[in-house]
Amino acid sequence: MKGMRVVLTGFRGTGKTTAGHILSEMLGIPFLDTDRIIEERAGKKIPAIFRETGEPAFRELEREAIASLPPGGVVVGTGGGAVLDPVNVERLRRASLVFLLQADEETISARIGGSDRPSLTGKAPGEEAGELLRERQPAYLRAADFCLGTGGKPPEMVAGEIARTLMEGPTSPLSRASGMGFLGRLPLPAGDRAALAAMSAGAAGAPAGICAIAGYPASHSRSPALWNGLFTRYGLPYLYTSLEWPDIVGIIRAARDLGIRGISVTIPFKETVIPHLDGIDQDAQAIGAVNTVVQCGGVLRGYNTDWLGVREPIRDLKGARAVVLGAGGAAAAAVYALLSLEMKVTVLNRTPRKGEQLAGRFGRRAAPLASFRDVRPEVVVNATPVGMLPDRSSLLSAEDLEKGMTVFDLVYTPPETPLLALARSAGCRVIPGTEMFIHQAREQFFHVTGIRVPEALVRELV
Ligand code: NAP
Repeated sequence: MKGMRVVLTGFRGTGKTTAGHILSEMLGIPFLDTDRIIEERAGKKIPAIFRETGEPAFRELEREAIASLPPGGVVVGTGGGAVLDPVNVERLRRASLVFLLQADEETISARIGGSDRPSLTGKAPGEEAGELLRERQPAYLRAADFCLGTGGKPPEMVAGEIARTLMEGPTSPLSRASGMGFLGRLPLPAGDRAALAAMSAGAAGAPAGICAIAGYPASHSRSPALWNGLFTRYGLPYLYTSLEWPDIVGIIRAARDLGIRGISVTIPFKETVIPHLDGIDQDAQAIGAVNTVVQCGGVLRGYNTDWLGVREPIRDLKGARAVVLGAGGAAAAAVYALLSLEMKVTVLNRTPRKGEQLAGRFGRRAAPLASFRDVRPEVVVNATPVGMLPDRSSLLSAEDLEKGMTVFDLVYTPPETPLLALARSAGCRVIPGTEMFIHQAREQFFHVTGIRVPEALVRELV
């Protein structure tokens, strides 16, 4: 990881400036503090900038300061507020490693007690720290490659831990000692195996971190091509590989051992991964499935972006009458998405009991597949594998489909499924499963990197 820019961020009082100075001396490269750059450019102290021009003007100066940073060979310290803006995150992350320094509320309050920095909320420092920390935590976690607790540690120790991570990478000492550790057992793509062995050995030019798709099977996925394309575009020192393994315990073990930053979870692990995680967000909890895992500081957090992939292409159809075909994980994400758009949702499933279970969880009605026409839906979402190659069948017939309906098939191989072909002939609006893939992947990349990729770029790479 030599030559890479090192960025330290975190809330006030997490020790980034003191640790940053010590680290810069250890590495023999300069330390640049974006707050100092802003003060020099503005010709006044930060409290005066806030007082005289307000926070938006300060954030503008901060954006300019971040845009002006040299590309490498420096340690940068930047305030936690900066990483709330995805444009700053994109700039800070390019050819860099970002460390989030963390401390609990009491430690922060004690450290910033006598500071002359202006309050952002008008509240006392302790109260303000707690409130802002909770609010900003998701953005902090997205923007960082590594998370490091600084509570109770002298800054020399914090700087030492960062320097060690820069030298040794994210893999645990145990897996370094055994080469690639458990990853050596997995059937990795050939080029990836060599790159990961180089990373484990701390070789120059090797990736600094790993992201992966985890599933069984997983090798057919389009995710590696998309993610590696995005890593190149944004200058992120990561390799996205494929973890094809029949058991989730082995995958989580590899994730912890190798400090894997982000995992796209696919069939059959979206539900079974949950007990192995340290926490999941509200949406994943409600859906009962996780398709995204992000690791920072040894903590694995789960999210669900599938529902956003269903929601985005039909967000203009608020309040419509809708049916979801199927009652598995994709159907649960679809029901959650449609309800978020205030649609009137009915679940139609082959096995009535499973349909009722899913519908019941969301206070909705279920019915057999045969009652499709009775519901007279305006929106149809197919969340079954019917029509996925090599299958060439459709759950609905030409007579079921009417002009004016919107038919969204979550299956994306082939792009034009038998259901979509029938719907197109009937004059329906058709939405292929690639749309879900594009939007869920864009949200997933945001969770793992904090970067907002333009939709057009994801389309180009998919
Ligand atoms: P799942 O948990 O296995 O659920 C499959 C559902 O489909 C079950 O409710 C099952 O009904 C029903 N089903 C299966 N075969 C059927 C058949 N021949 N006739 C009628 N119903 C049938 O699968 P999942 O994870 O929800 O995924 C479903 C599909 O969504 C996948 O195959 C994939 O193509 C698609 N998907 C797409 C994306 C994307 O990004 N576009 C993302 C995720 C999933 P029973 O309850 O009766 O068994």
